[in-house]
Amino acid sequence: MPAAGEGNLFADESFPKAAHHELQNTQLRANLRHATHSIRDKRLRVVGELPDWESLRNAGEAIKNQAMARLDERLEEFEKNFTARGGIIHWARDAAEANQIVTDLIKQTGSTEVVKVKSMATQEIGLNEHLETQGIAAFETDLAELIVQLDHDKPSHILVPAIHKNRTEVRDIFLREMPDVDPNLTNEPAKLAEASRKHLRKKFLSTKVAISGANFALADTGTLGVVESEGNGRMCLTLPETLITVMGIEKVLPSWQDIEVFMQLLPRSSTGERMNPYTSLWTGVTENDGPQNVHLVLMDNGRTRALSDRFGRSALNCIRCSACMNVCPVYERTGGHAYGSTYPGPIGAILSPLLTGIEAEENNSLPYASSLCGACFDACPVKINIPEILVHLRGEDVDSQRGKKLLPTQMDLLMKGGSWALGKGRNLDLLEKGLPLGKLAAGRDKKIKRLPGIAAGWTASRDIPAPPSKSFRDWWKSEKEGK
Ligand code: SF4
Repeated sequence: MPAAGEGNLFADESFPKAAHHELQNTQLRANLRHATHSIRDKRLRVVGELPDWESLRNAGEAIKNQAMARLDERLEEFEKNFTARGGIIHWARDAAEANQIVTDLIKQTGSTEVVKVKSMATQEIGLNEHLETQGIAAFETDLAELIVQLDHDKPSHILVPAIHKNRTEVRDIFLREMPDVDPNLTNEPAKLAEASRKHLRKKFLSTKVAISGANFALADTGTLGVVESEGNGRMCLTLPETLITVMGIEKVLPSWQDIEVFMQLLPRSSTGERMNPYTSLWTGVTENDGPQNVHLVLMDNGRTRALSDRFGRSALNCIRCSACMNVCPVYERTGGHAYGSTYPGPIGAILSPLLTGIEAEENNSLPYASSLCGACFDACPVKINIPEILVHLRGEDVDSQRGKKLLPTQMDLLMKGGSWALGKGRNLDLLEKGLPLGKLAAGRDKKIKRLPGIAAGWTASRDIPAPPSKSFRDWWKSEKEGK
C-alpha cells in the first residue's frame, strides 16, 4: 500500500463531536447560510446560461479520468517540458519532505520573508507553521486568507476561507492586528479591501520570494496556472525574484487545449462568475521578465494511495471549486472547522480519509458526515460521485474495524439479528409474533418514545408509532381467507 498522507489532513476529534460544538455557534450558522446561499444562487444563474453545461461536465470528467489513468506518463512529460523552459522540479513524497524542500530553497535566497498566493497544498502540509519554526515569516496575500491568518484562525472553506466571519468581525480583526490601520475603519467592504491593500503593498514590493499553489499543470507545454479574483496572485507570481510553487501530483492535465473546458467549469462553479478576473499562466523562466528562479515541488502526500483505491480515485479529479460545499446541508450547518482537515465539506469527507487511509481514527467518522442527498454530485463540475464514494468508505471503515474488537458491538448484533430475521420468511413470521409487545411498550399515546442501547440515538429526536396488532402478512392471509 502506498504511503499515507501527513500534515493538516487529520481531525482533532470525531466529526459528531466537533459538529456538536460548531452547531452551538449561531453567528457562524447565520454567516454560512447567507454566504453559501448567495454563491449557490449566482452559480445556478451562470450555469443556466450555458446550453452545453452537461457536455462540459462530461468533458471535464473524461479529461481528468484520462489524466489519472496515465498519471506517471503525464508527470514525466510535464517535468521534461517545464525543465526545458528553465523551471526546476522537486519531488516530495510527503508533507515533511515538501516543507523541507521549500525551506531550503528560501534559505538559499537569504530571505526571511515570503509572500503567498492562496494555496490548499501549502495549507495541507502546514507550510506557514513549519516556516515559522525556521525563522521565516509567510504573509498571506489573499484577502480572506489574510483575515484568517491575522485572527490566528483556520480556514473553513476551500474558496472563501473566512466564510465564517462577517464584515464587523473582519473590521475588528483589522483594528486589532494591523499596525498603521485607520482607527476609524468601518465595516464597508471597499474600506476593508483598501486597508488590506495598503497593508500588503509594501510586502509585494519588497519581498524577494513568493510561494504559490497551482490550479493546473499542462503536460504538453510545461505550463502552470493560477486562477484568482483579487490580483494579489498576479503580483506574487510576477514581482519577486524567486517563485516556488507547491502542487499535488493530481493537478496535471494532458494538454494546453484542456483549459478550454476547465476555464468554463471552474469560475462558474466556484464564484458563480462567467470568467474569473485573473488567470496567470507561466512556462518556466522568461529572461528579464518575472521571477528568474522558478521552482515546482510536486507532492504525493497520500495521492498515490488514493489513486490505488479503484472506487475512491475519482476524488483526485477535484478542481477545488467548492460547489459541493455550498449545496451541502451538513456543511451549511456545521461549517468547515468540524471536518478538522484542510479539506472540508463533501469533498473533504472523502478526500481526507482517502489520503490518510480510513484506518486513521481521526478521520474514520468523516464518511458519515452526509445525508447522502446527492446535491454534491449534481453540483460537481467534474461529476465526482461523492455519495457513492462515501458509501464505499463507510464499508471500508466497517471492514477496518473488524478484528480490532474482542467482543461484538451492539451494531454487529443488530445487523446479525436483522440478517437472521430477513433471511427466511419463517424467521420473520416468528419475529412478528412479538408485535403486540411493541404495542404494549407504546402505551396509551401509541408512541414508542425511547429505545435502548444504540437505538436510543434514533428516538432522541423522533417517536416511533406503535406497531399494528397484526403484521401485513397476517392481515393479507385473513383478507384472502375472508374472501
Ligand atoms: S468535489 Fe467537485 S464540487 Fe466539490 S470541490 Fe471538488 S470539483 Fe468542486
